[in-house]
Amino acid sequence: MNLALKHPLAFVPTMGALHTGHQSLIEIAKSNCSNVLVSIFVNPLQFENPEDLAKYPRDLEGDIEKAESAGATFVWSPELEEIYPENPEIISAGDLGNKFEGVHRFGHFDGVLTVVKRLFELASPEIAVFGEKDFQQLFLIKKMVNELDLGVRIIDAPIIREEDGLAMSSRNVRLNKESRAASLVISKALNEARGAKSIKSARDVLHKVLATEPNFLLDYAEIIDADSFEIAGATCASPRALVAGWISGVRLIDNMVISL
Ligand code: AMP
Repeated sequence: MNLALKHPLAFVPTMGALHTGHQSLIEIAKSNCSNVLVSIFVNPLQFENPEDLAKYPRDLEGDIEKAESAGATFVWSPELEEIYPENPEIISAGDLGNKFEGVHRFGHFDGVLTVVKRLFELASPEIAVFGEKDFQQLFLIKKMVNELDLGVRIIDAPIIREEDGLAMSSRNVRLNKESRAASLVISKALNEARGAKSIKSARDVLHKVLATEPNFLLDYAEIIDADSFEIAGATCASPRALVAGWISGVRLIDNMVISL
């Protein structure tokens, strides 16, 4: 397969259903490199639940328009066979792959790392941009790039939110009016935890605020050390709050720096 890509190349992998959050990654890529590749590939390997995969929103035409208007010079929507020839090499996310998101989405991060490594092999980018929205994913990708010496510079992109605080996500279109209102408890809890005076109090505030919304079904809420991804101790220098849970059958995740 010949993608006929120009180098140096900045790469933004996505699963499509692009929104302003994805476009911000493309803009960051563009500000670092004039050649920007955006991939649109809904990766079956990272979905444990076939229903979630089937329900994942798809809009290729709209995506191409949004990607190009944000600065993409090449939009790539590969077929399944192109990404996964027979017996693909599966990358293991190790222990961290089974914590936090990994507890609730078995095998998810193995699927993510496997597709990212494969996309990197096919596109050979010099730079790749990933969002802090998927903070554990970003951490694991950086770890893989270091350990396998893949030679791609990873750039972190900040979370883009709706005006009322909800982190943008392709899944948000599945929230009805009531659940959309209930979803605000997540950013509210994160913002209140951010202003706490200690790690312990940040953790308590996070749980206390989340518990005020009866329609929010918690998967986990934790303060971690962003340098190690261990649970943050009292003297942690880079604490970050993570939240994941469900509102009316829609799974939402979010995170925020804690500024003690
Ligand atoms: P996805 O299509 O959901 O796999 O996301 C593709 C990339 O966009 C990942 O690097 C995500 O972390 C990033 N992303 C998704 N939502 C946001 C957001 N609200 N703000 C910034 N980046 C995001």
